[in-house]
Amino acid sequence: MESDVDEMQDAWNDLVGLPAEPPLMRSICTTCRRPQTVCWCTYVPSKLEPSCRVVILQHPAEEKRCLRTAPMLQIALTERKCLIYKGKKFPQQRHAGLTDILTDDNSLLLYPSKDSVDLDVLLKVDQVSRPYNLILIDGTWPQAKGIYNNTPALHKMKQVKLVRSTKSEYVIRTQPTDGCLSTLESAAEALAILEDDDTYRDLLKRPLKALCEFQIHHGAVVHDSKEFRIKNNTYPKKLGKRLTKFLNVLETS
Ligand SMILES: [Zn+2]
Repeated sequence: MESDVDEMQDAWNDLVGLPAEPPLMRSICTTCRRPQTVCWCTYVPSKLEPSCRVVILQHPAEEKRCLRTAPMLQIALTERKCLIYKGKKFPQQRHAGLTDILTDDNSLLLYPSKDSVDLDVLLKVDQVSRPYNLILIDGTWPQAKGIYNNTPALHKMKQVKLVRSTKSEYVIRTQPTDGCLSTLESAAEALAILEDDDTYRDLLKRPLKALCEFQIHHGAVVHDSKEFRIKNNTYPKKLGKRLTKFLNVLETS
């Protein structure tokens, strides 16, 4: 039963990741790398400059995912307020400046370990002598755990967690539990708390909301057009076995 649910979720992920139009016929936005029809760039706030700096430790597989939220952060924040380092463990030689960040007293690792403290209890950024570095791990939950386990430098850092708002609004990307937030949501919540300014929450989540609406809409389109595709055999990309099975289930339920 459990595996049926998992399979259903995987199939759902396949479905939402499927381009709504045949790949050759769509044009791609050069900024968000999504089809123009579902480009979320216009929903991203322009170059916000919080006092805190967001530092993302990104699992390499994350970049290949269809639905990613770290690029939204990168576009929304000024260059010096959003750093992205890629790898499965940190720091490596190519990660310039990261050792200093990970050993800085003012760096906070957002990670729900048993030692992590509620972000709400920390001093706001205008009450501390130097602004915080907010470290986020970007990847699926197993990937994030892998990065944490492979990276001793993270174990020594001050660890914080979000308690106030922990239910994801990111309905497309299946989260393992209700407590898991996307990277963008985590950063938005944490910045709103540390900067004591709710506009970070509202502005940063805007493209995510748009993306969810696009995906739900396009998921429906893909489903609706299944008969057309099969009858006319016009969809150039072969549907996977899992997805085909899922669509059949949807159709007969
Ligand atoms: Zn775009």
